[in-house]
Amino acid sequence: MANAARYDAVIVGAGHNGLACACYLAAAGMSVCIVERRPVVGGAAVTEEFHPGFRNSTASYTVSLLNPKVIRDLRLAEHGLRVVERPFSNFLPLGEGGFIKVGGGLEATQREVARFSKRDAERLPAYYERLETVADVLRSLVLETPPNVGGGIHDLFLAWKAGRTLNALPLQAKRDVLDLFTISAGEWLERWFESEPIKACFGFDAVVGNFASPYAAGSAYVLLHHVFGEVNGKKGTWGHAIGGMGAITQAMRREAEARGVKIRTGQGVARVLARGGRAHGIALEGGEAIEARCVVSNAHPRALLKLLADLPGEWRASFENYQSESATLRMNVALSELPDFSALPGRAAQPHHRSGIILAPSLAFMDRAHATARQHGWSREPIVEMLIPSTVDDSLAPPGQHVASLFCQHFRYALPDGRSWDDERERAADAVIDQVTRFAPNFKSAVLGRRVLTPLDLEREFGLVGGDIFHGKLTLNQLFSARPVLGHGNYRMPLPGLYLCGSGAHPGGGVTGVPGHNAAREILRDLKKSRR
Ligand SMILES: Cc1cc2nc3c(=O)[nH]c(=O)nc-3n(C[C@H](O)[C@H](O)[C@H](O)COP(=O)(O)OP(=O)(O)OC[C@H]3O[C@@H](n4cnc5c(N)ncnc54)[C@H](O)[C@@H]3O)c2cc1C
Repeated sequence: MANAARYDAVIVGAGHNGLACACYLAAAGMSVCIVERRPVVGGAAVTEEFHPGFRNSTASYTVSLLNPKVIRDLRLAEHGLRVVERPFSNFLPLGEGGFIKVGGGLEATQREVARFSKRDAERLPAYYERLETVADVLRSLVLETPPNVGGGIHDLFLAWKAGRTLNALPLQAKRDVLDLFTISAGEWLERWFESEPIKACFGFDAVVGNFASPYAAGSAYVLLHHVFGEVNGKKGTWGHAIGGMGAITQAMRREAEARGVKIRTGQGVARVLARGGRAHGIALEGGEAIEARCVVSNAHPRALLKLLADLPGEWRASFENYQSESATLRMNVALSELPDFSALPGRAAQPHHRSGIILAPSLAFMDRAHATARQHGWSREPIVEMLIPSTVDDSLAPPGQHVASLFCQHFRYALPDGRSWDDERERAADAVIDQVTRFAPNFKSAVLGRRVLTPLDLEREFGLVGGDIFHGKLTLNQLFSARPVLGHGNYRMPLPGLYLCGSGAHPGGGVTGVPGHNAAREILRDLKKSRR
């Protein structure tokens, strides 16, 4: 221990939030070291080769939530980050050969929706306006530290500030906030629309990374969580990062290194070290110790619990009960040609190939996939979103060939009857490919190679406990001041000098950079106080 390296802050994990946090701390003059278990930085936001000559984002695959302040402060554009908007948000082929396209401007969407219901098309402007008003509330709260339950005067001030934001809303918006945080996406959408395709298109967001039926209470919040982002200043839009999601975290790495942050990859942290009732460093799996004035964890809250195995306390039970399962399977495929959709034929690239392709034609279909997964572990007709980033980015696949990201919902972490993902991985992947092939008959024969990540693989590879893509469920009992648990909603963990900067903290999952940004602010606030 006498020769241990010593920093102002040591960060466990170089996910995008760990990198963002490090950048802010280093900018304030702190010496910072990040230790990452994987050989590359970026956590769930990385680009890797998965088949010879074919690269793609491995886990997260599309951008919207990345906070504009983080993009600016970390000079991500100067480091080469470029995000290309989708021509429209979603293309949803329907069972009997029809389709709906959503996004690309209000009028275009209204024209599409009117093919199914004129009434729904007329209601769209009001729908977007009401949803945007609530999304704006969320936007105004994401960069705030939630008031901590049991905190002091400062927390009372934060509670007053949050309350004031809500109180300033017109009554209708207050009602919408209440509904969107509590009711089901199905109920919310059925109040607005009568035709299935538009409900399916909007409702899909409610089941992304959320093991729930779109008719489950609370699912409307998950829908909302997917609309508070923006791309290139355009609210609610989604885009492709050129070079894949790894382009974001490689830009962050460059900024961190420019600010003097030391990054160590390929080394796991085994323990947080405590002395005199404070965190004072970490021990690596190889035994080496790194001392620091504070320890910051980018790891999942339940993974952090394991790093604190020696620390008793009543807080342990609430961390153990932290819910973490999104029931998600992620697959990359190398393709010899583009999928040719029966509903909109053609193998040459068209705008729908550059949008988010949703293969889940109705809310009832999504409800069924959930019910089947509850019983059998996963459904043979899964909910699939497909993106084909090689249509806008020629760095990912050889000329004329393509890569597709398949993001598939309702694959449980724990399979029933003692079944194991190690035996079932390829069967589940085949079911996903069959599902896409139902809509695009050439798909199966176009697949040249694939990499499949079951929920168990997501846990093993990225440390996502229970395979949860968001570091824990986005349910009301795990949001804002209650994320990850009540009493620790302000980035400060049960051991003084220990902080949480990952997606298990407010405002939750997604490639946002916000937990990293907010945690750094709280660390610097404590540092200032201790100097005083
Ligand atoms: C399959 C999938 C698809 C997704 N799709 C999208 C999407 O399209 N868009 C979007 O915005 N979001 C998406 N998400 C969510 C988003 O990727 C995550 O919420 C976000 O990347 C988490 O970032 P983070 O920095 O908080 O944590 P992580 O990215 O999980 O990083 C944590 C890091 O800590 C490291 N670590 C953990 N424990 C230790 C230890 N003991 N020692 C050393 N290192 C350790 C891990 O290896 C990891 O690198 C997706 C996630 C997944 C998994």
